[in-house]
Amino acid sequence: MALEAETQAIVEQFEFSDDDVNKAVKEFLRQMDEGLSKDGTSLSQIPTYVTSVPNGSEKGRYMAVDLGGTNFRVCSIKLNGDHTFSLTYNKVTIPKELMVAKTAQELFGFLALEIKKFLQEHHGEVFEHHLKRRLTVSSPDGFKDEPIFRMGFTFSFPVKQVGINKGTLIRWTKGFDIPDAVGKDVCALLQEEIDKLHLPVRVAALVNDTVGTLMARSYTSPGKYGSILGAIFGTGTNGAYIEKLSHLKKDLVGEYDNSTGQMVINTEWGSFDNQLNVLPSTKWDNALEEGSINPGFQMYEKRVSGMFLGEILRLTMLDLYNNPNVSFLKDENSSFNDLGSVTVIDRDSGLYKPWGVDTAIMSKAEADQGSELSVFRESLEKELKIYAAALEDAVAIKRIAHAIVRRAARLAAVAIGAIVIQTGKLNDPELLGEKIDIGVDGSLVEHYPGFRDMIKEALKITDGIGEVNAKRIEIGLTQDGSGVGAALIALVAARMEQKDTNADYIGELRSAVQEGASAVDEKAALDEKATSD
Ligand code: ADP
Ligand code: MG
Repeated sequence: MALEAETQAIVEQFEFSDDDVNKAVKEFLRQMDEGLSKDGTSLSQIPTYVTSVPNGSEKGRYMAVDLGGTNFRVCSIKLNGDHTFSLTYNKVTIPKELMVAKTAQELFGFLALEIKKFLQEHHGEVFEHHLKRRLTVSSPDGFKDEPIFRMGFTFSFPVKQVGINKGTLIRWTKGFDIPDAVGKDVCALLQEEIDKLHLPVRVAALVNDTVGTLMARSYTSPGKYGSILGAIFGTGTNGAYIEKLSHLKKDLVGEYDNSTGQMVINTEWGSFDNQLNVLPSTKWDNALEEGSINPGFQMYEKRVSGMFLGEILRLTMLDLYNNPNVSFLKDENSSFNDLGSVTVIDRDSGLYKPWGVDTAIMSKAEADQGSELSVFRESLEKELKIYAAALEDAVAIKRIAHAIVRRAARLAAVAIGAIVIQTGKLNDPELLGEKIDIGVDGSLVEHYPGFRDMIKEALKITDGIGEVNAKRIEIGLTQDGSGVGAALIALVAARMEQKDTNADYIGELRSAVQEGASAVDEKAALDEKATSD
């Protein structure tokens, strides 16, 4: 019984009540407003210079890369102009040592090499053709260094964006730490390495994954009004939403089109409430904080996203294990251990290592509805080298994991709810009874069973939203969002380039929009065999 009581005591500490949600929403709105007025606030509210979202008619072929935090993805995308697309991609895990490399060149060189591999593998003909043309470089009508692929670069770290393909890194997050890169233009860093390998690729657009998600959702969503928010719940968490220009009181340095009266704002909400006015803190949050490489920063993210939830779980498990009054993972008096053997924790178990428990196992626990939790107990063996855990142990872990993720989902609802309220869309007479669309992406929201339902539950009790309005809020998964979103922004970039070289840009743009922008993108000579995933 001691284990059950102790588990209950832990679970209760992760409770985030309706009242807590409402207080936090008010504070989120306050910090949003503060971030719209000045620099140096906890919510950075970064202007993206993107002033409109797609409507699904956009066409063309593009490349996109996505440096997320855990993975690096390289893709080529064909936008079909009818809300659909086809996409081919490769995905690699970023080697841990490159996340803390001495020089930026080491990381970006690795990325360029992955782009080369992708081209060889999926676009071999174009790649070979480009190589052959390079050999004719000495003849007058021979090779000129014409880029063939326009590429959108999804870079999901805080960046001060100063142009559509230019932005300097403000700080690393999510376990990355390469001081050499801070303050540098990340597009230039990547282009330099691409050029060293003589790849026919041009970094045309710099995209935050949240903005990409918002763009992609607007492209694919069949709704009348597009999306208002793109949100990520992956390694980290962040959101970008459509704000009225009249609410943006900070100076805007770059050029932008003000005809729409709105601009996409990258909130950088991972650092919401770094001052801990409303965020909850348990002893395990504090312990995680002590072991983190950026104490005092990304305080919201540390309670919400994939990189951290597994670590919070690990810290609670260790406490239970070390508690002399509780039998946990010791199999001393486990009457239900149907596996019939003594519980063994390998010395090499992730339980003993900081960051050794992947959040993915929390989804496994939640998904296992069997009375014996045998699938989950198998994962404990495979992934954590905890052998023959008793059923009570597995139940305890599952309950605590659920409490940690439930708190995360309710905190996610705080950001989403505040932004829905901020946009005023619920009370817009034009949208009476219409759905309010939100695009989400990231492994946590994609794979944790019921994550979106828990967000919805919290939205129902949010002042200013309520049960009826919560039903109008559609939270849709945007799979492959970063690739499609980056392609869409590369398309905007292509149009902007035309603006520089074409006297009649407006006429051009009009006809491009009418024709689904296909004219602009004919140059992109990708092969046709893009497969649909
Ligand atoms: P990125 O952040 O690099 O774009 P993802 O969206 O895949 O990548 O997020 C990776 C994060 O999600 C990691 O922190 C990982 O622990 C977590 N994660 C991976 N799989 C799952 C899962 N099945 N359930 C919950 N979290 C997961
Ligand atoms: Mg991602």
